[in-house]
Amino acid sequence: MAKLITVFGATVTTYPPVSGIQGGGVATALLEDQDFKVRAVTRNASSDKAKALQAIGAEVVTADLDDPSSLGPALQGAHGVFVVTNYWEYINKEREIKQGKAIADASKAAGVMHVVFSGLENVQKIAGVPCPHYDSKGQIEEYMTSIELPVTFVRYPGYYENYISAHKPQKQEDGTYILGVPMEGAALDYASAADMGPAVRAIFKNRAERLGRTVGFSADKLTIQQHAEILSKHLAPKVFKASDMTADAFAQLGFPGADSLGNMFKFFRLHNPDRSVEVTRQLHPAAKSFDTWVSENKEALLNALD
Ligand code: NAP
Repeated sequence: MAKLITVFGATVTTYPPVSGIQGGGVATALLEDQDFKVRAVTRNASSDKAKALQAIGAEVVTADLDDPSSLGPALQGAHGVFVVTNYWEYINKEREIKQGKAIADASKAAGVMHVVFSGLENVQKIAGVPCPHYDSKGQIEEYMTSIELPVTFVRYPGYYENYISAHKPQKQEDGTYILGVPMEGAALDYASAADMGPAVRAIFKNRAERLGRTVGFSADKLTIQQHAEILSKHLAPKVFKASDMTADAFAQLGFPGADSLGNMFKFFRLHNPDRSVEVTRQLHPAAKSFDTWVSENKEALLNALD
């Protein structure tokens, strides 16, 4: 019998995604496999995105991570749950931790057999600098472990899709574009977030092997200069360059979350946290390299540029 998986953050089915990118990839991948049924969670079941999920076969239910009483019904009868919390909606670490603990408690109470949580490292603990959007997820991981939840932690790398949304290349006066990712020459793990859906599906399929483990996703580890070269190759005559800004300077930019992002880039450069192209490809052999992804997404990338 098909196993029911409740999926948070699923409300996107079209590309380029503007919301629900992690859960959207997971829901889509699960729906392609007859071993699974999907119950997608949203705060607004009448949105077009929710309706689009219904149209491809998902059950859509209303629940809110901020409302613990809504979570039990969303988990009722579910074998598994994919959980992603969205720090960036409120830029509030304590709120995200509360959401994570609420879904952990509700999953335990509902007897869910397999939780896949999109976690990240507790950077404050490892590196001694605050990185609220990571530290919150690290603390949720610690809580889930402490209550002995049957859980697998997945850690997403930077999304290629960021170049269409959060980290669009910035046009300079000379007409070239700067990639504002301050890695100071070090390589950084990336993947198409949409591509990680099938990797999460493989984790649900191999519960016994993956329970209690942490999987750091990556489909390609390149320098930002290499990203710039690949973008310049596929989007010629446009020219892309890596920013020469330091992570410390980035942290001082002053927009909400800049300090957290700056410390995150520094953490990656200095601590090289575990993200594995090899393990990711075992889970999803077709996970795209950056070169392939850019070649397949030229139009979306060009449309995003000023
Ligand atoms: P997203 O595309 O912005 O989508 C957010 C999703 O979460 C929507 O489907 C939304 O559903 C749902 N959601 C938000 N608040 C909710 C709540 N209170 N209750 C129920 N559902 C809620 O988000 P994403 O990019 O997939 O995930 C965001 C997280 O990814 C962030 O915490 C970020 O730190 C992490 N992350 C990002 C990157 C990156 O490179 N960008 C890399 C690693 C990790 P409705 O609006 O339909 O309710």
